[in-house]
Amino acid sequence: MIVAIDGPAGSGKSSISLQLALKYGFVYLDSGAMYRSVTLACLKNGVDVYNEAEVTRVAKESQIEFLYDQDGKQTVLLNGEDVTGDIRSSAVNAVVSVVSAHPSVRTALLDAQRAYGQKTSVVAEGRDTATTVFPNADLKIFLDASPETRALRRIEQNKQKGMLDDPDALDFEKVLESIRKRDEIDSSRAASPLKPAEDSIIIDTSPLTFDEVFSLISRYIDAFLVQQN
Ligand code: C5P
Repeated sequence: MIVAIDGPAGSGKSSISLQLALKYGFVYLDSGAMYRSVTLACLKNGVDVYNEAEVTRVAKESQIEFLYDQDGKQTVLLNGEDVTGDIRSSAVNAVVSVVSAHPSVRTALLDAQRAYGQKTSVVAEGRDTATTVFPNADLKIFLDASPETRALRRIEQNKQKGMLDDPDALDFEKVLESIRKRDEIDSSRAASPLKPAEDSIIIDTSPLTFDEVFSLISRYIDAFLVQQN
């Protein structure tokens, strides 16, 4: 089964997707972490994020691996180096949407993303997993929430991740502005913009708790699995 969950920053898709993958024993694909890793590689190597050819070269040369422990704690390795914390920094947030808007960067990462769906069941999350990566996904969900709600959630998440020495990560106005900026670039780009697929189920998570969203999507997955048996 392929479950594609898209939505803007802070809509809750990462935690929901990961927990669904753990519950059902599906593989979890965090496509945003791939774009983040390429962005970090550019920043570390002084590559101009506006230079599509250079960024594409970095994307092709980057070896991105994910490890998960039994609680679902994620470790991201970029060319063998642990970059789990660094890819979530404000510096990466500020330019990841520039990197991900380059069409050839997206193409460079597409095969690796599709490979996740070839062997086993997967929960894929990102911006275009239902429209471009897995257009034939069995279940397509688009999670949304107001920018303010998403900013508050993101700050909470950043606190839990211990990002206490990154003041921008805890400042409401700054996080809100960063989210709005990314929304704007992600939604208006030509290549695979952030938008629901025509057959996506759209869920506004603003008034819902994590458990409510989780059980709602679980019911859709259960219904699909029952149908298959
Ligand atoms: O989901 P996350 O916030 O980690 O994604 C970081 C950025 O990566 C997004 O703002 C977007 O620019 C890009 N992205 C994308 N397509 C995806 C997933 C993420 O363009 N499928």
